[in-house]
Amino acid sequence: MTVMLGVDLAGRDVLLVGGGPVAAKRLHRFLADGASPRIVAPVLDDDTALLVERHALSWEPRVFRASDLDGAWLVHTATGDPHVDRLVAEQCELQRVLCINASDGAHGTARLTAQAEIGDVTVAVTSTVGADPRRSVAVRDAIADLVGDGRLPLRRRRAGRSGRVDLVGGGPGPADLMTVRARRLIAEADVLVIDRLGPAAEIVQGLDSDVEVIDVGKQPGRHPVPQDEINRIIVEHAAAGRRVVRLKGGDPFVFGRGGEEMRACLSAGIPVDVTPGISSAIAVPQAAGIPVTHRGTAAAFHVVNGQGGFGPGTLEAMTDVTVTTVVLMGVAALGRLVESALAHGVPRDRPVAFVESGHTPQQRTTRTTLGRAVEDARAVGLHNPAVIVIGEVASDRLLLSAPAVIGAALA
Ligand code: SAH
Repeated sequence: MTVMLGVDLAGRDVLLVGGGPVAAKRLHRFLADGASPRIVAPVLDDDTALLVERHALSWEPRVFRASDLDGAWLVHTATGDPHVDRLVAEQCELQRVLCINASDGAHGTARLTAQAEIGDVTVAVTSTVGADPRRSVAVRDAIADLVGDGRLPLRRRRAGRSGRVDLVGGGPGPADLMTVRARRLIAEADVLVIDRLGPAAEIVQGLDSDVEVIDVGKQPGRHPVPQDEINRIIVEHAAAGRRVVRLKGGDPFVFGRGGEEMRACLSAGIPVDVTPGISSAIAVPQAAGIPVTHRGTAAAFHVVNGQGGFGPGTLEAMTDVTVTTVVLMGVAALGRLVESALAHGVPRDRPVAFVESGHTPQQRTTRTTLGRAVEDARAVGLHNPAVIVIGEVASDRLLLSAPAVIGAALA
């Protein structure tokens, strides 16, 4: 029978008896746990000596004596001699100090666990029948994987002072294009503040019924919940001690107003962090087989918000045939965008692609050119959400030409 305790070793006196390779490993662990280890050993191996020097640890260069136990909360034997280790363990028993005995097969009164910190949860695994560290590590890793990607119920059941905001990138749509960290943060959240874009609908279905979901989704040209109000919502919930996830389509810092929400949290003294997401600026063209850069074709790409029209820097870059222009939120302003590009001298035959609802079952790609873009958009009924790609990479021959060359070589 083993009782696992979440013992806080920070600043506590931990005695290590022995100075071999095991001692060095354990020192690393105790130091990482914040303990104040000291060591008793006639000699130290190089790794241990280095740690003793680097961390200015106390080292008694001699054999163990019973009085070494005075003041210790915990003892670890690592002399490499089972007989000596056992003597130390017996002395610990007499003096009522918990002892981890490193000798093969022997357990002292305490044992180290295979441990992992994932977010604010600690997972620790040990064995009840004889030490089997590799098995413990394997079990720990398997649990850590489940915890890490949100497949275990991580949400706090007790409100605490742990209120915080995470601005989480949800990617372009499918939940499996989210990061593992995003999934974990969502599993931990008390409040989820969602948008219309991204994986919100799929995610919300899998939530516990007591997770509060607030939809602040914006429609193009219509802002049901103003940004100030969104800022206020996330700050207030976090200030009340809740874990808030602000889930956004794509990446929070790419036309996602994540910077403003972060600033609102910081100025209210709320802990805030950002989890990046796959941005539609790259992933939506990719879904249509369009690489935003391609060696020999496109050496740079501009990502622009179409609502405000093309700025002079973007127009200038568009005259460079090796630059790809990726336009988000550009459907409504398409006519004006095309007109300004043509007026600036961008050739009419520059390839253009519209990719609607990328990475979803409704995905549709339309290939055209700058000169025909407006009329083709009207013909297909182009609608949001869509990414508009302008540049040679939007040509449908770009990737198709490669297999053709291979085919010709084989023939
Ligand atoms: N932060 C987001 C962008 C938000 S702006 C990101 O990094 O992806 C919203 C614009 O993103 C839409 O108007 C559209 O241009 C684009 N968009 C987002 N998801 C899309 C999708 N699945 N398919 C096509 N365009 C998408």
